[in-house]
Order: sequence, then structure tokens, then C-alpha cells
Amino acid sequence: MYTLREIFYTLQGEGFHAGRPAVFARFSGCNLWTGREEDRATAVCKFCDTEFVGVGPDGGKFATAAEFADAVASRWPGGSAASGGERFVVCTGGEPLLQLDAAAVDALHGRGFMVAVETNGTQPAARGLDWITVSPKIGSTQVLTRGDELKLVYPQEGGAPEQFEQMDFTHFYLQPMDCAERARTTAAAVEYCLAHPRWKLSVQTHKALGIR
Ligand code: SF4
Repeated sequence: MYTLREIFYTLQGEGFHAGRPAVFARFSGCNLWTGREEDRATAVCKFCDTEFVGVGPDGGKFATAAEFADAVASRWPGGSAASGGERFVVCTGGEPLLQLDAAAVDALHGRGFMVAVETNGTQPAARGLDWITVSPKIGSTQVLTRGDELKLVYPQEGGAPEQFEQMDFTHFYLQPMDCAERARTTAAAVEYCLAHPRWKLSVQTHKALGIR
């Protein structure tokens, strides 16, 4: 059974693939916060801005990998008017790797999708993933130390970027923490990237654009 909060078609807003059309498959549930406000203060991850509890209007529960993959494929624009482009799905959450397994990845491949995951890095990766983005959360145990993109929300207490630089990622991004002090966190991230050019700035363009 796969439980999805929502599945929708949009543009990837942040990181390496920013601007790329994608189906977002948001899995329900996370191991670092219950998603309930009353638990936020005691959660490992305290700055979450995502609704990942339960099943939303365009989510669902899928008994098999094939049913899940069909739901994802149904969001991709079809028909003769849809021109070109590799199908792209971003599996996110919540924490997608609590549910996303090799069977689901295979089923998505079978429908022509490049399969990306955005994970907090506390779970092993499913076999066959095409793109792995890890967004580490300070205070959790990171088991995924290799992938395509490491995207660190910045600043985090105890989250100096240097501690991740030895990990095996192709791209290193700092993403300003989205909070009441966003101007300050953005300035800090810009300053860090300028002083440490290995790091690139990830901007949440979907929020600036007002898209989902
Ligand atoms: S790990 Fe991700 S989904 Fe889970 S609480 Fe933190 S930001 Fe939200």
C-alpha cells in the first residue's frame, strides 16, 4: 500500500531541476515530525513547511505499485498536443523513502518516467532511482551519504555546511530557511556561497511565482 498526500503536475521550484515540468508525488508521513503543530517543538525537524498528513483531495491510497504509477502517469499531459520532454516525477513528502520501494520505481520506469526523490536521508534509497536529492536535518542520523544533490536548508543550528562536503554528491546547494527572517537567512546563504564557491544557492522559485 502506498499512501499519497497529493499528486500534481507543476514546475520543480528548487535545486538543480528548477523550472523543469514534473509530477510531484507527495508521500504521506515523516519520521522526523508527526505533522501536528502540538508536536513541532519536540520534533527532530522543527521548520517543516509542508502538509504531509493523510490523503488530500488529489492524493490517494494505492494497493499496488502499478496503481500508484498509473496515478502519476495520469497527471502528465497527454495527447498529441503534448510535445516532447522526458517524463519526470519527483517523489517527495513527508519522507518518501518510508514507502517508495524498487517495485514502485520499476513501475514508474515502465511508464517512461525519470524518477527523482527528495529525502531527509535517514532511510536507504530504493534501487533504481535516477536522481537522489538529500536534504539533511540536523539531529537526525543520515544514512544516505551519496547522491546527485545535497540541499541544505541554511542556516540550521549545528548545521555547518563543511560537515557535508566529504559526502559523495555531485551538487551542493544551500537553500535559505523560509521563516519570518527570510531576508536574513537569504543574505547569510548568499554570503556563504560567495565565500565557498562549491556551494550554489537554491531559491524556492515556486513560492516567488505563486505556483504550487
Ligand atoms: S524531514 Fe522534511 S517532511 Fe519531514 S518534517 Fe522535516 S521538512 Fe518536513
